[in-house]
Amino acid sequence: MSHSPLVHALGSATRAYEQPTGGWFLNNAGWVTGSERTLVVDTLATEARSARLLDAVREDTGHDGDRLLAAITHWHGDHAHGANQIARAGGRVLATGHSAEMIAAGPHLYEMVFAFDGWGDVTPAKIDEVVAEPTTVELGGVSADLLPVPWVAHTAGDLVVHVPADGVLFTGDLVFVGVVPLVMAGAAAGWIQALDWLTTLEHRHLVPGHGPMQGTGSTAVADLRAYLSWLLEVTAVDSPDFAALDAQARERWSTWSEGERHAVNLIKTHADQHGAEADVPTMAMAMLKPFGGPIKLDI
Ligand SMILES: [Zn+2]
Repeated sequence: MSHSPLVHALGSATRAYEQPTGGWFLNNAGWVTGSERTLVVDTLATEARSARLLDAVREDTGHDGDRLLAAITHWHGDHAHGANQIARAGGRVLATGHSAEMIAAGPHLYEMVFAFDGWGDVTPAKIDEVVAEPTTVELGGVSADLLPVPWVAHTAGDLVVHVPADGVLFTGDLVFVGVVPLVMAGAAAGWIQALDWLTTLEHRHLVPGHGPMQGTGSTAVADLRAYLSWLLEVTAVDSPDFAALDAQARERWSTWSEGERHAVNLIKTHADQHGAEADVPTMAMAMLKPFGGPIKLDI
């Protein structure tokens, strides 16, 4: 099994930390470093993986302790679980208000859905600063803009990190590449709006939440937009044939991994469009059906 992350230098101050594409909880992260401080963008799902990420940050930047900041793009465990290590080192952790609430209520391990015992210590980090509006973080000769999404997209409190000097955009899970996106905690319509907003932020490099780095000419955002639009279109009717639509999605997006998410995305988007509540157990069961039990994580 090859699970080695890649570190990409994107401009002089920014690094992307890319994990392999595909597989639950295998997200990307990165960091932006100035002469004074380093801003780490997201952490990883397990204690061990996050420790490895932070080793790479320290080695590359020479920064530790109170010279570290973390911006958590959203509350999902793959992105947020390692924030406690930055807090313990003496760094400060920043997130939106919704993310702060959800993180405090965690860790969210979904033991009914995932069979895994390798999390390590993923005690929720205290969020030191809530990012309620666009905020520029000065790092010493370079700055990063933390931009919250004010509506429900991938979650109800997404945040992107834009580094204008290096032309880099960390989108968190607003962008998945080569992996079926997960709408369970968000809403397809708001997500499309967020994608349209992303395209207005000037960048040469896009670091997705999952999947390979994207450069200029990437079709990733358009591809994702097409998928979300399809979800809205096919679930607009009162009683869609969910099984047939699931099969259709698996065929049309056959190159994307985690095909089990189509079932959930269809149920959630249908509920959103009909003023109904999609309950998590129903969505989880729909997703587990092809596995006949919990999903075994290999991280
Ligand atoms: Zn997520």
